[in-house]
Amino acid sequence: MRDITGKPELYSINTATLGFQSSLPAIIDACAQRGIGGIAPWRKELDGCHVQDIARQLKACRISVSGLCRSTFYTAPTQAERQAAIDENRHALDIAAELGARCYMQVVGGLPAGSNNLEEARRQVREGIRQLLPHSHDTGVPIALEPLHPMTAADRSCLSTLRQALDWCDELDPEGDYGLGVAVDVYHLWWDPELFSQIARAGKRILAFHVSDWLVPTVDLVNDRGMPGDGVIDIRSIRHQVESAGYNGQVELEIFSSRNWWTKDQDQILDTSIERISEYC
Ligand code: ZN
Repeated sequence: MRDITGKPELYSINTATLGFQSSLPAIIDACAQRGIGGIAPWRKELDGCHVQDIARQLKACRISVSGLCRSTFYTAPTQAERQAAIDENRHALDIAAELGARCYMQVVGGLPAGSNNLEEARRQVREGIRQLLPHSHDTGVPIALEPLHPMTAADRSCLSTLRQALDWCDELDPEGDYGLGVAVDVYHLWWDPELFSQIARAGKRILAFHVSDWLVPTVDLVNDRGMPGDGVIDIRSIRHQVESAGYNGQVELEIFSSRNWWTKDQDQILDTSIERISEYC
């Protein structure tokens, strides 16, 4: 396992961690001042920006993009809505390519509105991904399936485990021709008794590694993630497994924290982020 202590060039900051307080150029400057090697921006932050300008700034600062967040949900009641989502995701792949993103992050969607058919939701997602794979290949940006904790199955992600994500990879891209892969997010996967065996199975399919911590108690299912060290996840052991499987990309900190971290200023969040990744990841 790599020694990442005191090596911010191996860290990436998912910009959600900073609570969307400032513009992307200001975030990039703040990360560059600290020697941070990567960011994972959100599509909404790029609205109204010239993507080429952002790409130029990133290059000048030697900051890479560990992933572009995130897909429009694939699940929807009508074919027209599902097609619109696929078209949006196709366009997002173009933006990801301009930024040189290492992958395009997929939060796939939960049940279509008004439905209780989880299998149909999963079928819709697989169909959407299948249609995007050629464009992913053409743009050179791999699609990263991110399984989310099953508590989000109804409204955010009918993809819940790493095994399920890898089964979909095997089904949709059996030879790896399209580079379809997965994101391992410790917040979503730490509880899974199959986690280590599925990480080993994933091997080169691991495109991203996301860290945060599970607070006890967790009071909001989405927006109460902890900083590494404040919760109960053995993050370092999971990183050991991920790197043993062949992952050598950045360690991306991704925190949603409406009650705590988002109330602090950006400099404080960034300084704490570096300390905690260094000490607890
Ligand atoms: Zn994540």
